[in-house]
Amino acid sequence: MSSLDLLSVVKQRNPGETEFLQAVEEVYHSVTKVLERHPKYAKFAILEQLVEPERVISFRVPWVNDQGEVHVNRGIRVQMNSALGPFKGGLRFHPSVNYSILKFLAFEQVFKNSLTGLPLGGGKGGSDFDPKGKSEMEVMRFCQSFMLELARHIGHRVDIPAGDIGVGGREIGFLFGTFKKITNEFSGVLTGKGVDWGGSLIRAEATGYGLIYFASCMLAEKGNSMAGKKCLISGSGNVAQYAMEKILHEGGTPITTSDSSGYIYDPEGIDKDKLKFIMDLKAKRRGRINEYVETYPSATFTPRDPDIDYNPLWDHKADCAFPCATQNEINVRDAQNIVNNGIHLVAEGANMPCEPEAVQLFLENGTPYAPGKASNAGGVATSGLEMIQNFSGSKWTSEEVDVKLKSIMENIHKTCIDASTSYGDAGNYVLGANVAGFVRVAESMIAQGVI
Ligand code: NDP
Repeated sequence: MSSLDLLSVVKQRNPGETEFLQAVEEVYHSVTKVLERHPKYAKFAILEQLVEPERVISFRVPWVNDQGEVHVNRGIRVQMNSALGPFKGGLRFHPSVNYSILKFLAFEQVFKNSLTGLPLGGGKGGSDFDPKGKSEMEVMRFCQSFMLELARHIGHRVDIPAGDIGVGGREIGFLFGTFKKITNEFSGVLTGKGVDWGGSLIRAEATGYGLIYFASCMLAEKGNSMAGKKCLISGSGNVAQYAMEKILHEGGTPITTSDSSGYIYDPEGIDKDKLKFIMDLKAKRRGRINEYVETYPSATFTPRDPDIDYNPLWDHKADCAFPCATQNEINVRDAQNIVNNGIHLVAEGANMPCEPEAVQLFLENGTPYAPGKASNAGGVATSGLEMIQNFSGSKWTSEEVDVKLKSIMENIHKTCIDASTSYGDAGNYVLGANVAGFVRVAESMIAQGVI
């Protein structure tokens, strides 16, 4: 099947699913050269198989609010590909969640998990439930209802979900408790668990830390380091917080952070104390980011303006940019601002935060750019390490996990460089990540037969 045929089939089969099509197109363009070099992948219709989930489960999630009123949300689990291992990927609770977003995330997850070198298939799930503004008891009741159905479809050798936007340690706790009650089994069915009940040390930190380990490899490639670098960060959730922590540790300075209400610019830098304030604000008090300027008046808060077609967060002078909030948060105009401001590294903490035209602009301008499937793989890699600890009944120290995480990120970086070099565009991380991620999955699918 030609490229146009494949993309039009995907479009026809998945009408209106723009994010999913965007993710498929990007991978397709990268792997065309692989298909030319290895005709067996076309013969086994690997790409055609990859764009079709092995299974999609959709279910009703009714729950009762504190006033006794019944609400109904939709739960979804996309089990995308299990060639490399059990399905693995996070759960997202956000009002924007739909089939397109979860299928794009699950598709990306297949390649990301492949890049880690661990035995992990790819999946993703979640609900259009919005945890924002809900009481702890409402979130618990929702999680219990969600798991009542999901429990039938997951298992520590079948499908192992984790967190994502709106699903942190608290939600994983409620989900795990419900799974245990239903199945009468204490198993590693979810990752991101509390460290006292089967969780791995460094899992919470892993995506943010891994992102900065990867960025440090990119800088080292140019004979540079994170020391002294000013960094733009979007988001103020799990990934953003620990990316900032590691930037500080490596001698860099974060100068922006955001949430969906707007962004903070702190020209004096977000130091350790200010970061602790953000962590308390977000994780404990579940407050809004504008509270930062009440405590640190040297910073400015710019509210989100839905009427402008760019995000001023990306229009500050800095050295590195780390989008860590959500998909499609950097458009071509933001990318132009990033390039104009002399930023010489963009690495994605979020999944697909850069629109395709923005990515193209970075590539054309020679701005080193890392796609999330490579640079944010530290989270799922450490989930893999949590699974290994659960299976073997062992518990590694923070240092042991951190060393393994760093080594995995360095390996992914090397894998991307080697694959991009082998396909004639050294240093193109998009090409490298897609090609290397694809080949491992493709080989495993062929070995397991047309099934
Ligand atoms: P969190 O829920 O902890 O934080 C998300 C942050 O992004 C919040 O600051 C949130 O603001 C902001 N945000 C979310 N949606 C939007 C939006 N539509 N517009 C503007 N801001 C938004 O999630 P994570 O930090 O876990 O995840 C962030 C990104 O990283 C996602 O793309 C996720 O898929 C990706 N990722 C996460 C991994 C993990 O281990 N957690 C692993 C790999 C990738 P607000 O609070 O106002 O909603």
